Amino acid sequence: MRRRFDERAVRSAERRAREDAAPRLIAAVPNLESLQINVREHRAGNTVADATYVRRVVVLHAPAMFIVPCGEPSCRDDHDLTSSLMPGLRNGATQLEGEDDCRGTVGSSPCQRVLRWTAIAAYRP
Ligand SMILES: [Zn+2]
Repeated sequence: MRRRFDERAVRSAERRAREDAAPRLIAAVPNLESLQINVREHRAGNTVADATYVRRVVVLHAPAMFIVPCGEPSCRDDHDLTSSLMPGLRNGATQLEGEDDCRGTVGSSPCQRVLRWTAIAAYRP
């Protein structure tokens, strides 16, 4: 347990460092007013969601980088939504969605989590 906790702490510290080094979201999309990402995670082949949550992005301070850690506790992979989200936001899209299979592993097996996300954005006129 201790080791797992340490790995997760290191992982989130690394993620924060990458986010801190990234350009700011407001610099990339200056008229963005609000952004909310709805996340739904489930195992492949299973339609019942294991986890759903809403991530509200603090537009003024957020990095132009969207990394969601895999919800499987022993999986070390992240879902990087940046390249799926940023082009749409730059084009003023108000709703974006996507799906990302986890490429991590749990023990010696592939992690079978699938992350589905919907982003809702609002812009200043
Ligand atoms: Zn995973």
